[in-house]
Amino acid sequence: MSGHKTLTMIKPVAFGKNYTGKILAKITEAGFTISAMKMTKLTIVQAQAFYNVHKERPFYNDLVEFMSSGPIVAAVLEKENAVEEYRKVIGATNPENADKGTIRDLYGTSLQANAVHGSDSDENAEIEASFFFSQLERF
Ligand code: ATP
Ligand code: MG
Repeated sequence: MSGHKTLTMIKPVAFGKNYTGKILAKITEAGFTISAMKMTKLTIVQAQAFYNVHKERPFYNDLVEFMSSGPIVAAVLEKENAVEEYRKVIGATNPENADKGTIRDLYGTSLQANAVHGSDSDENAEIEASFFFSQLERF
């Protein structure tokens, strides 16, 4: 079934500031179920692959370096209309423009270190979930 899943990452700075527990609480309070989760650290090559869609963007190299700079938490979140619903919970890309009370408003520190990633389509949610998790790691 499509439309019920999204992939999030708690990005390095938010992880380093110990916001992981608070972010996961916001996620579950918003009605998402966590169906897979892991703590990991991306290599440069893995971050390049994950963000391949952005390879022509001017911020690509900085983003890849940032995302491989420290541990992250990756998780698959489930809810009806998950991609769109989760983007409401995280807020705008730039924390300065994110609605009050959203994850990026509360826990983002810059445009790059905007606390979390959220998938932008059902198709990418599945690609990103498979990037991090084998079938044995998904519940
Ligand atoms: P994400 O994909 O992480 O959920 P998003 O969909 O809101 O974020 P994208 O346009 O997909 O935003 O950009 C991916 C990530 O690249 C952003 O989350 C941010 O960390 C970084 N980024 C986006 N635009 C810029 C920019 N102009 N300068 C630096 N970093 C940027
Ligand atoms: Mg995006």
